[in-house]
Amino acid sequence: MSAGKILIVGLGPGPDKWLTPEASAALAVATDVIGYIPYVDRLPARAGQTKHATDNRVEIDRARHALDLAQQGRVVAVVSGGDPGVFAMAAAVFEAVDAGSDADKATDIQVLPGISAMQAAAARLGAPLGHDFCAISLSDNLKPWDVIIRRLTAAAEGDFVIALYNPASKARPQPIHDAFTLLRSLKKSSTPVAFARAVGRPDERVVLTTLGEADPAVADMSTLVMIGSSETRFIDREGKEPWLYTPRHYGAMR
Ligand code: SAH
Repeated sequence: MSAGKILIVGLGPGPDKWLTPEASAALAVATDVIGYIPYVDRLPARAGQTKHATDNRVEIDRARHALDLAQQGRVVAVVSGGDPGVFAMAAAVFEAVDAGSDADKATDIQVLPGISAMQAAAARLGAPLGHDFCAISLSDNLKPWDVIIRRLTAAAEGDFVIALYNPASKARPQPIHDAFTLLRSLKKSSTPVAFARAVGRPDERVVLTTLGEADPAVADMSTLVMIGSSETRFIDREGKEPWLYTPRHYGAMR
């Protein structure tokens, strides 16, 4: 039996131009592709390749399935949007390995990086991640809400730029509203905010605003919300959207 393996592949934020050559090559050699339905559906059908599309809530089962297939000699691509190590499948696979057998620990696994949503959004907006930043997922499916509150508070107090992933979904419209209520009590209302939706896709939409004026209802499950530090600023431009950036030097160092 040929040696199987798992390739954990980041598909980038959407368009093919943001898929790395390494990721494309992995998708071409995989005998099996495992992932969340919309990502797997997006990939072209290939002769001899089996697609296993599953619901988003079964990450660990998906990881277990990938390990089983790899141990049967298959070359399994486990796909995630963006980077597979950022709020995505790579950690789920390692959770399954950690809880698994010696055969699981011996399985050949490679993680292939991708462009994460915050990087794509930052590139669209200008350079908001030009100085210290943090990324926080607002999904309370996988962690208690009081941890999210603690992290948002610490991020605001640390004056980090904050990239918010999973700000809202149809089933969970509330987190982004609660997050904004909290952040408004901790940061200046003039703080720049950007809602970067479906960056790189045909339905891309970017809304630039401030913490005081933002309507959190703009955010949906395809939106990356960027909240500035005290240094983040807009550069207004005649007839064009302003740039958003965070200077390299902080405060008096500038
Ligand atoms: N692994 C992914 C993140 C998965 S969590 C990555 O590295 O990007 C899913 C969240 O990512 C979404 O709720 C949204 O906040 C963000 N996201 C993914 N693709 C996006 C895109 N094209 N534009 C804006 N945000 C996106």
